[in-house]
Amino acid sequence: MAASPYEQLEQEFRRLHAFRGALSLLRWDAAVMMPRGSADVRGEQLAALETEHHALPSLIARLAKATARAEVFWVEAKKANNFKLFAPHLEEVVHLVRDKAALLGQARGLAPYDALVDGFTPGISTADIDTIFKALSRKLPSLINEAIEVQAAHAPTPLTGKFTVARQRALSVDVLKALGFPFDRGRLDESEHPFTEGVPGDIRVTTRFDLNDPFSGLLGAVHETGHAMYDLGLPAEWRDQPVGRDRGLALEESQSLLFEMNLCRSRAFVKYVRPLMEKYLQVSGPEWDEANLYRHLIRVRRSTIRMDADELTYPVHIMLRYELEKKILEGSLPVADLPEAWNANLEQRLNIRPTNDVDGCLQDIHWAVGHFGYFPSYVLGAVIAGQLNEAMRAAHPSLDEEIAAGQFGGVMDWLRDNVHGVGARLPVQELIKQATGKPLTAAAYLRYLEAKYLEVP
Ligand SMILES: [Zn+2]
Repeated sequence: MAASPYEQLEQEFRRLHAFRGALSLLRWDAAVMMPRGSADVRGEQLAALETEHHALPSLIARLAKATARAEVFWVEAKKANNFKLFAPHLEEVVHLVRDKAALLGQARGLAPYDALVDGFTPGISTADIDTIFKALSRKLPSLINEAIEVQAAHAPTPLTGKFTVARQRALSVDVLKALGFPFDRGRLDESEHPFTEGVPGDIRVTTRFDLNDPFSGLLGAVHETGHAMYDLGLPAEWRDQPVGRDRGLALEESQSLLFEMNLCRSRAFVKYVRPLMEKYLQVSGPEWDEANLYRHLIRVRRSTIRMDADELTYPVHIMLRYELEKKILEGSLPVADLPEAWNANLEQRLNIRPTNDVDGCLQDIHWAVGHFGYFPSYVLGAVIAGQLNEAMRAAHPSLDEEIAAGQFGGVMDWLRDNVHGVGARLPVQELIKQATGKPLTAAAYLRYLEAKYLEVP
């Protein structure tokens, strides 16, 4: 008997799911294993698969070529600290992204920029982002000032020791096992920037160990494990169908940030991890006491670099990018004027000014690869994590004691029931309302930040 139209559709989704899985593992390989000289060959392979599983073939193919070129010149421009090398290529990408936004917007009945955001985080609009960002802009500047003041009187003692990769790796593996990461169906490797790729059944996380910092590699691995646990917790019976997929980037990022920031940059986590640090890193001394370790985890510092930003100043970097990328796409900010607009914006928001474009508008790869509408998801993720964290703790008053004992089962159960197991069955706003009993706002996130950063350490 011939397959019904519904079965044919299911079949097609299954095929696209397999393409996505293959793409994901090729990207992992490119970042972790592939010989450097093989980038051209891999670029062709990725472009072929990308075109195959997209619906706008010719535009996607042109965008793939333009972004491949722009990425090369972005690297060159960074090396030479010369934005002009990158500008014409960014301009070309902007033109194509504008076309893509207009087409997608038409098809979905959305404004162009909303269509781009929707592509990364379905169900979130510019109006939602504006409301949340406004609330953050009102509170964050004074909160940052106060936190820096509070912390100035209690500067952490430096952590010294020989933090070899092997030792840090052993520590990370122990912690990841406690979090529930399945090493029989997953791997932890190293890469330039941490990421998660793969599919449930073969999940790959990476991190980067810093020989002078015992926390950055560990917390990078914890962050990625938050992503991995979400992907693994999606409803297994719908794995290869759209309803079984993750609910977009903001929710993805909420899961990694919940692990890294809310759960692990905490006093309870320090209680759990301190003996493990002594064991694996073979360190001892007064600087390894709980109070000092915690001070390291919540240190607030103004930086011009997003990737170096702490939890409290991070949203400021994102709000800057959100404002500028909308102007670039609208055409009200010419690409040539980007460096000055960037520097002035950061100075106004954070009272710090990049002295060159490498520390300014050349620092991120996102626009070079055509990812406009992507940045807001980082902060939306933090805001969602703040709200989930509050609801989870209300339902689970003993959470901190469990974390201090290295037990994350309670956390995982709550997330499975309320977030992971839902897959894409509900729109993101509805999912959050059902999980927390409240619509998504910045209120819980701001309460969490104030409690954490205004407390005398
Ligand atoms: Zn992440």
